[in-house]
Amino acid sequence: MKRKAAVITLTAALTFSGVLPIGDVRSAAAASIDQKIEEVQKQQEQNQQEQQQSKEEITKIQEEQEHVESEIKRLDTAVMDTNDKLDKKQAEIDETNQHIEELKQEITILKERIAERDALLKDRVRAMYENGAVSYLDVLLGAKDFGDFVERVSALNVIAEQDRTILEEHKADKLSLEEKKVEVEEELAALEVKLKELEGLKQQLNSQMAEKQTLMESLEKQEGELHSHVEELENAEQLLAAQEAAFKEEKAEAERLAREEAERRAREEAAARAASEEAAKQQSSSNTSNASNSQSSSNTSSTPAPAPKPSGSSTFIWPANGYVSSGYGSRWGTLHAGADIAAGGTVPIVAAAGGTVIRAEYSSSYGNVVYIAHNINGQNYTTVYAHMRSLNVSYGQRVSQGQMLGYMGNTGNSYGQHLHFELHLGGWNAAKSNSVDPLRYLP
Ligand SMILES: [Zn+2]
Repeated sequence: MKRKAAVITLTAALTFSGVLPIGDVRSAAAASIDQKIEEVQKQQEQNQQEQQQSKEEITKIQEEQEHVESEIKRLDTAVMDTNDKLDKKQAEIDETNQHIEELKQEITILKERIAERDALLKDRVRAMYENGAVSYLDVLLGAKDFGDFVERVSALNVIAEQDRTILEEHKADKLSLEEKKVEVEEELAALEVKLKELEGLKQQLNSQMAEKQTLMESLEKQEGELHSHVEELENAEQLLAAQEAAFKEEKAEAERLAREEAERRAREEAAARAASEEAAKQQSSSNTSNASNSQSSSNTSSTPAPAPKPSGSSTFIWPANGYVSSGYGSRWGTLHAGADIAAGGTVPIVAAAGGTVIRAEYSSSYGNVVYIAHNINGQNYTTVYAHMRSLNVSYGQRVSQGQMLGYMGNTGNSYGQHLHFELHLGGWNAAKSNSVDPLRYLP
């Protein structure tokens, strides 16, 4: 189809050969090729600039990534530290709880011992009373409480050494009981503080982990951006190579056609010369033959050429059936460089015009995507078909207008099944500076 387009271009140029001498036709074709080469060179310069920008962007993102990575490292250290503190605090709490339990057990034992001695001492007092040792009784009965009673018994200094020991122990136990009760109170208060600290550490850990999560997400986003920049860079290089190849092929084809045309014209001229010489020899039927001869010679070049398609609305056909869900133009602050055509079900995507597939691949942004380079009436175009479900064509393949490229899909950066269709005047580039509103070119 591309070759056909070139033929049309050339034939179109030759159509006007009645007006222009042959040399001018050829130089016009050469000028057109020169113009295309100039276009490629411009494109190359532009691509180099864009590549430089992409590289700078990559360096910037890498720096940001390094910053985020060091932040994450810092947080990891902080989280580890907090975890350590949490473990230690928990151990302290366990220890305190253990100590409280021990104290409680000791208190229970002390209480039991005190109760037993109480009973024992009461028996002794009763025995003393029954044995007639009444003289002490008044003193003892005057006691305000049991502690006082014990004091008084000790003071009497009349009881046996064994009883005195019992009383001393009893006194010590009661004192120890009071101390342990205080100690338990203190430990419980300390436990309260430690539990609060533990709670604080847990909250700290949670916020550190949340911060890390945020950083990880931003790192992931940066990685995505980096990836797409690298992808863009690689793609731009590949595409540039493909476009250059396509233009070279076209130039060779145009030259071949020009050569053939020149040979054909030379043959025609030779034939015309022979005919006029013949006519000169046979002067009898003379006058009109020359005129009619030259008339027919100029006719051969102008008659059978199919008229080139007008470069207006009918050059391209709709690449898919559906409704336009989003048009070309500024969207959410950025350029939406194409038109979105949406439809449900299984919807074939077709080539909007004949051309060469210069890219058929998956990319994270475009999903399954096909790029086609066209040359129509001497103008280079690139069409892009994105988010396809599947790819039915491959790199380097020639496609005709209306040929199926695949089915409408929802791959890549797409929310819902649709075709993202771009049209570029000339080559595609990452900045999409050549993009135009494709709807203006559709019938
Ligand atoms: Zn779109």
